[in-house]
Amino acid sequence: MFLSAFSQTTQSLVKEVSLDSLVKTVREFSGEDSATFNDTTVRIVHRVSRKNNNLAADYLVHRLEAYGLQVETIDYRSGGRNVIGTMLGKTNPDSIVIISAHYDAVANYCADDNASGSATVLEAARIMTPYCFHNTIKFVFWDEEERGLIGSRYYADTANARGDRIMAVLNMDMMAYDGNSDKVFDIHTNSNPENRRLKDTILSLLDTLQIDLIPKVINPGTTRSDHASFWRHRYPAVFCGESFIGGDPNPAYHTSKDRIGLFDMEYYHKLAKLAIGLTIEMTGAIKTVVEHDTISACFEYAYRDTVFKESTVYRDHLISSIGCDSVYEMDLTITTINDSIKRNAIGLNALDTASTYQWVRCIGNSRIPMYNQNKKAFRVPLDDFYAVILNNQGCTDTSDCVLVTLTDIEKLHLAVAKLYPNPTSDFVTIELFDVVDEATIYVRNSTNQLVVQTHCYNQKVNQVELPGADGIYFIQVVTSMGASTYRVIKKAD
Ligand SMILES: [Zn+2]
Repeated sequence: MFLSAFSQTTQSLVKEVSLDSLVKTVREFSGEDSATFNDTTVRIVHRVSRKNNNLAADYLVHRLEAYGLQVETIDYRSGGRNVIGTMLGKTNPDSIVIISAHYDAVANYCADDNASGSATVLEAARIMTPYCFHNTIKFVFWDEEERGLIGSRYYADTANARGDRIMAVLNMDMMAYDGNSDKVFDIHTNSNPENRRLKDTILSLLDTLQIDLIPKVINPGTTRSDHASFWRHRYPAVFCGESFIGGDPNPAYHTSKDRIGLFDMEYYHKLAKLAIGLTIEMTGAIKTVVEHDTISACFEYAYRDTVFKESTVYRDHLISSIGCDSVYEMDLTITTINDSIKRNAIGLNALDTASTYQWVRCIGNSRIPMYNQNKKAFRVPLDDFYAVILNNQGCTDTSDCVLVTLTDIEKLHLAVAKLYPNPTSDFVTIELFDVVDEATIYVRNSTNQLVVQTHCYNQKVNQVELPGADGIYFIQVVTSMGASTYRVIKKAD
């Protein structure tokens, strides 16, 4: 039975977007806090491209590699450096979704422009890398945006020349300032139907993810950020950010006063959720397949390398044929039986408590069921080998055969009559010790078949004939005083 349960839907993954994680990255990337990577602790004082922002690029490489991504840096001719982490799609590796932000800056700090967008791309990588996606996702950091979209333009031109199939580009540039607290953010799109679709997806995600922000669609949108490099080649691209052009610009824009202290944290968290939600939606999360089994087994159950001897709920993480996580859940019920038997005052006692019982005589390898003997305790009728067959929840077990030798006192206590002659050629006389209203006499042959059943009323001495072949017969005498079984040998004269 296959169920796709706790699906990695966009909704469930977006819940993982952490403001703490975003803030930590912004603080490190904007030089508020030092960062430790490649065994050194450094402070990223600035990210200005022509003043050497390679430390910032190294930080991004380190962060992407830590999520297990394939990372490349593209040093293009003007001396800029784009940083790209790639996770290949499992279904359509040639279909590419890009979540991106420019990482360069014009002054120290520049937290909003654009550590805020860069941290969101890293947060997307943190959340998405443990899962599987249909399309390829690229986590991209553009250089030299501030010098005229140079990094993104270089990438879009070469991607177009290669014939890359880019399904969507999300550009984030400044996403944490909401000076008038009106929750408005800008969506920049244009008349390209695919861009309008991206815009519509954002609007519907606001609804399904229940993100309390107010969208302002700007069409035609600004061409002053990196998405415009993709619009030039008619690649679908959308720009999401704070309402900079829409009427609430960050007053610290392009100065070293652009620091994290000006962030509206709640606003930033929501906008990051929306951006990452769009990215997940476009990339297409592959649901974790959960296989659930309910298994009942007798005594033990072997699963892969493990032998389970007790009931348990077991979960195993497996890798599917396409290299994605799948989960195997097993609800295992193991039935065990205690097959020990113990001599007690009247004969034998089974130690298991949850079973049904059938007592048997052991003759060689045969186990002959004893008539009506199916209680936990078994009153042994005569010296012999006995065992019990136990059944619990469809599981069967048979105890060892045990020789029971009754003491004389036990035999006397058991006896309700004396029988003679034994051996006999045909008739047996049954002399009751007490005259009772009614005695029932059962005669069984050695295979436990009932061959005679007779009733006697108020009669001390009774006779029965042993029909059939010579051999061992069992005569059971049942009276209100008790019941005993006798072994009688039939032997022709
Ligand atoms: Zn910017």
